[in-house]
Amino acid sequence: SVQEPTYKRVLLKISGEALMGPQGYGLHPPTVERIAREVKSVSDLGVEICMVIGGGNIFRGLAGSAQGMERTTADYMGMLATVMNALAMQSSLEEIGVFTRVISAIRMDEVAEPYIRRRAVRHLEKKRVCIFAAGTGNPYFTTDTAATLRANEMACEAIFKGTKVDGVYDKDPMKHADAKRYDTVTYDEVLAQHLNVMDASAIALARDNRKPIIVFSLDEPGGFRGILAGQGTYTKVQ
Ligand code: UDP
Repeated sequence: SVQEPTYKRVLLKISGEALMGPQGYGLHPPTVERIAREVKSVSDLGVEICMVIGGGNIFRGLAGSAQGMERTTADYMGMLATVMNALAMQSSLEEIGVFTRVISAIRMDEVAEPYIRRRAVRHLEKKRVCIFAAGTGNPYFTTDTAATLRANEMACEAIFKGTKVDGVYDKDPMKHADAKRYDTVTYDEVLAQHLNVMDASAIALARDNRKPIIVFSLDEPGGFRGILAGQGTYTKVQ
């Protein structure tokens, strides 16, 4: 029997580092392809998908500014890094037959569509995966904030934050054997206890618009699809 997906429209946020695979830097095409297949499996359920990909595998504004670069310029470089990641993901998705659009917050018409909200909504209705690139288009923000902003604008029912672990823990589960995973946790608990979900501005923006954040493991094959079919382990920030 075919079960109705729990959500009809979602936004998947992944960090740039998720695309570097076993490498310490940049893009690892087999890893990009693996994630593309996870996205396709959810798209095949008829779920409408937005994506936001970070740029930390290539460049982070804060790292540049720590080395003496002017902060806003460094941030624009970080935003450009996200465009490279978005194009890599688009290429991989289209290779396996998923129609996509890269939609950039910074105009670069030869490479990506400009962000026009109603046009992006139309793409989603036509079941095209929309990859939102260049973050919010503003320095001093992050792609976590961009993900929450776009999830709000596109009326996504939830933000899926794909990570290396299957949820939010009270301490780093990679370092502490007794770390405890939350099934649910509130936005305010995340903020007060500095739990590692997304940065504070993104959490506050999700809270103020009641956008649930599902933290799950992208390393678990079939995990993304499983959650949409009502299974699996994850933490819901609500
Ligand atoms: N960035 C920005 N404004 C945005 C989104 C991103 O200035 O709206 C820059 C910022 O310098 C950031 C970099 O782009 O460090 C890469 O994004 P992020 O650090 O969020 O990537 P992730 O950690 O998710 O890979």
